[in-house]
Amino acid sequence: MKRFRFRSLLGLLFAVVLVGLMGCGGSNVAVPTTYSSEQIAQLDIYTPRVAELRDRFPELEEYLQSKDWVNISAFIHGPMGELRANLGRVTSRLLPADAEQAQFYAAEIGTHLEKLDAAAAEYNQIEAAKQYREALDDFDAFLALVPEPSV
Ligand code: ZN
Repeated sequence: MKRFRFRSLLGLLFAVVLVGLMGCGGSNVAVPTTYSSEQIAQLDIYTPRVAELRDRFPELEEYLQSKDWVNISAFIHGPMGELRANLGRVTSRLLPADAEQAQFYAAEIGTHLEKLDAAAAEYNQIEAAKQYREALDDFDAFLALVPEPSV
């Protein structure tokens, strides 16, 4: 019993160290910190398309509250169908360290929307609402990485 406890404590310590290491990974890398005017010009084209979809995102919340499952699915496959491509166009023009994080959030948003779609198909309001909120958080985290429009 004592030995078991000791081992599980070691395991816990190891996990804490691992998390600490992973936490430092992204922030210590030296990267260019400024955008070229060409990158900014391109981001000025593509960022508004993502921001526009972010602004429409709360439409999903209305459908969720009224348990309008059909429109949830239609919205995900309709207006949000363009989202993945638009996130990709912005991501590829970000500074390297930001692009890596943006790619992570873009993948997260996609996963949450797939799960939201699946939850809607099962009329599961609680799960659908959870996925909606997580997608929204990841969406905002994505946009926080993107420079403000220059115009
Ligand atoms: Zn997420």
